[in-house]
Amino acid sequence: MVLRSAIFASLFVVIASCGGSARGPRTGGQNVDDAGRVNPFFGARYYVNPDYVQKVEAAAAKAAPEDAALMRKVETYPTAIWLDTIAKAAMVGKYLDEAKQQQVQTGQPTLTAFVVYDLPNRDCAAKASGGELKVSENGQARYKAEFIDPIAAQFKTHPDQPIVAILEPDSLANLATNLGNPTCAASQDAYMLSVAYAINQLALPNVSIYLDAAHAGWLGWDGNRSRIVEIFKRVMQLGGGYNKVRGFATNVSNYNTLTGRDGKKMEPSDPCPDEITYVHHLGDTLARHGVKHKRFIIDTARNGKGGLRRKWGSWCNVKGAGLGERPGVTDDSTIDAYFWIKPPGESDGVADPKAPRYDSNCSGPDSAPGAPQAGEWFESYFMDLVRNANPPL
Ligand code: BGC
Repeated sequence: MVLRSAIFASLFVVIASCGGSARGPRTGGQNVDDAGRVNPFFGARYYVNPDYVQKVEAAAAKAAPEDAALMRKVETYPTAIWLDTIAKAAMVGKYLDEAKQQQVQTGQPTLTAFVVYDLPNRDCAAKASGGELKVSENGQARYKAEFIDPIAAQFKTHPDQPIVAILEPDSLANLATNLGNPTCAASQDAYMLSVAYAINQLALPNVSIYLDAAHAGWLGWDGNRSRIVEIFKRVMQLGGGYNKVRGFATNVSNYNTLTGRDGKKMEPSDPCPDEITYVHHLGDTLARHGVKHKRFIIDTARNGKGGLRRKWGSWCNVKGAGLGERPGVTDDSTIDAYFWIKPPGESDGVADPKAPRYDSNCSGPDSAPGAPQAGEWFESYFMDLVRNANPPL
C-alpha cells in the first residue's frame, strides 16, 4: 500500500480487555452517531488474531529474554485482520467463530476488526501492494462476487458480534490527489463503485464501517480535504446513504504522531501537523459539507515516535518507528478508538530492486533496509517497533 504526501497534487487466542492504556484508563467514546449507533469499541473485548500471535511467538522464541518479554506483551493486543485476497476472505467465518466462543465464555461483546483490501487495480499510485484483481480483467465483477459477497455472507451468520470493517486503505485518497497517474485515472469508476458496493453489502446492524481517510500529511491541506469529502459523499450516496458509514480510519500503516505538531517541520503549509488535528479538521470539513457526526479511528501501531522522516511522503517501513498508544477507546468524543490496524512487524513493501512489486520508496533513505514483500514478516522491523514503543510496553 502507499501512504504518500500530497505535495504533488496540492496461544489460541488471548483476550485483550477494553479501553486501558499505559497512561491510565480512557473513558470516552460512548457517543451515539447520527444513525443512533454507539461506539462499537466501547465496553467491548477485542479479538486477537491467532495467526499474528504465532508470528510474534516465533520471534520471541529466538529473542533475548528481555526482548522476548516485551514481544509477548504485544501478543495480548488486538490487530486488524487484513482481507487482502479472495482466499483470505474465505477465512472470515473461522475468525468470527473463535471470537464468538470468547464472547460466550466471557459474557462480554468481543469485537473483531477487518481491513477489506482487494480492490481491482489496488495501490494504483505505487507498486508495492498491487493486488490480484485488474479492472481490465473483469476485476470489478470479481471483487463483488468473489470477495465482498462471501465476506457479507460470513458477517450475516454472526449477527450478534460487533464487527469493524475498514474499507480499502488509500483507494479514495488516490482519487483525490493522484489522478495524474494513468493507473489511478483508469481506476476511478472501479474504485468508486466497488467501495460503494462494499458499503452497501457490509453495512449490517452489527457491522461498523469506516472508510479509509489517508492521513494528515496526505489530505491535511484544505483543498485536499474538500476534494476527499466530495468523493466520500458520492461513494456513500452510491452505497446507500451516509448512515451506513460510522466514520473514517486514518493513519493506516503510517507514522504520524497523535499530537506534537511533528508535521510542521516537514510541510509548514499543511494546517494539520499531527493526526488529532487532522481528524478534527476533517470532521469539520465533513460537517460543513453536510456529513455530520462521523467518528474516527486512528492507527497507532507505528506512531509512538515522531521526527523520523526527511520527507512526509515517505511511507515504506520508515526507520526508527515505535508502537504508539495501545488499542482502545479514547477521551476524545470524535475518536471511537486507537487501534493497531497495521499489524506491527508486517512489511509495507520489498526493498530489493530486483524483486517483483519493488517500489523505489522502499529502499529510500527513510526506509529500513532488507524489507520483504508487503504483508510479510519483517523481524528486525518488529524488534525496533517494540523497543521504540511509546508509551513503553
Ligand atoms: C499488504 C497486505 C498486508 C497488509 C498488512 C499491505 O501493505 O499489501 O498484503 O496484508 O499490508 O500487513
